[in-house]
Amino acid sequence: MEKDRTIDSHTILYGVFGDPIRHSRSPIMLNRAFSEARINAVYAAFHVLPQGLGDAVRGIRSLGYRGVNVTIPHKVEVMQYLDEIDEGARIVGAVNTIVNEGGKLVGYNTDGIGYVRSLKEETGIVLKGKTVLLLGAGGAARGVAYALAKEGVACIYLANRTKERAVELADTIRPYTQAKGLGLDEVASVIAEVELVLNTTSAGMHPHVDELPMPTELLQPYHLVSDLIYNPRITKFLREAEARGARIHGGLGMFIYQGAYAFEYWTGSSAPVAAMRQVVEQSLAE
Ligand code: NAP
Repeated sequence: MEKDRTIDSHTILYGVFGDPIRHSRSPIMLNRAFSEARINAVYAAFHVLPQGLGDAVRGIRSLGYRGVNVTIPHKVEVMQYLDEIDEGARIVGAVNTIVNEGGKLVGYNTDGIGYVRSLKEETGIVLKGKTVLLLGAGGAARGVAYALAKEGVACIYLANRTKERAVELADTIRPYTQAKGLGLDEVASVIAEVELVLNTTSAGMHPHVDELPMPTELLQPYHLVSDLIYNPRITKFLREAEARGARIHGGLGMFIYQGAYAFEYWTGSSAPVAAMRQVVEQSLAE
């Protein structure tokens, strides 16, 4: 706990529910944010098992927590316990942030908007009108695909190991932009059309650091290659893309900004993003 913070009977309570949870960097990031913003609040990690999720969510209301983040494996299941779900989270089918509005629990999803804010601020890309190749069709892919569609991208090719999931996600996204589901073996047929190539699969994430989501020989210098993974900070996919002359963008900014949006929904104040990034970078380096 930082020296200038005192927990007293006015301290506002926040936390994160997940299973597992002890690896989470959200507590250090959000506690730093509250202290930087001089808000009397504290954020803790709760190891909530699937069978205890309903009770844990009811506890938000009864104990008067102002807000909670929800992480793996609860992002979908938690929705049934909430009073209201924001449109974006409903379409994506997952909630990662709960705001307690005087006893009414409202669910949001800040993953997709967090990714888009990081991508735009860190690369300067203008997304409107672009064609994107998005690898993966899991929970993270859903949020990111919807957020990209809302940014006005012209077309999203969704390629997944299990093609049916990509086809199904393309159907969900099609009301918002052109979308097509592919198998990973079909990536070569569209790669020349796309400007942004984005990995949302877990291929390459620690400890599977040697895995690649697609053959990197297909990448060209005109591609911007982005990866949601931030452990390791630079995946093998990004390293090989850079060696082929492409610009690269890693997943740490998405983590920071999904937390920044949660902070903003809870407090109504803008998040101290630089301090949040500094403390997470320091923790990852340790
Ligand atoms: P998920 O729902 O379990 O989905 C995993 C996806 O990866 C599926 O599309 C799966 O394909 C694919 N996949 C897994 N192993 C693969 C392999 N060896 N080769 C090709 N495809 C493979 O997971 P998620 O929640 O979407 O998370 C995905 C990644 O995003 C994770 O690495 C996570 O750390 C990262 N993420 C980062 C942030 C951030 O803040 N930066 C936030 C959320 C997630 P199938 O459908 O065929 O199984």
